Amino acid sequence: MHEAYEETTDDDYAVRTAGTFTATEIRPGIVELTGPCPRCGGIMHIPVVTGTYKSLRLFRRSGAPAPAERIEPVICTCAHEHPGRPDGGVGCGAYWLLRLTES
Ligand SMILES: [Zn+2]
Ligand SMILES: [Zn+2]
Repeated sequence: MHEAYEETTDDDYAVRTAGTFTATEIRPGIVELTGPCPRCGGIMHIPVVTGTYKSLRLFRRSGAPAPAERIEPVICTCAHEHPGRPDGGVGCGAYWLLRLTES
């Protein structure tokens, strides 16, 4: 049984996913962020349009200057069945901000 669906966030989600997510360029201008949801553990695939950026990588250090930092809001898109989820929804409801920087 998976956790009940709940739209929730936690400062810790961003910290944990910076260490576990990977950013892979799947085609020019599109980077896919992949990793386990910090709430339910389901694997998520988040395509991000990089636009003028060539590619993006996850920003892992704190306190260091980031010349081209970008904040990407993400929400869990796991394939689990989470009880209480609205019809047509996906994921467990966890959301947070991923910090990305130009690579
Ligand atoms: Zn899940
Ligand atoms: Zn989740």
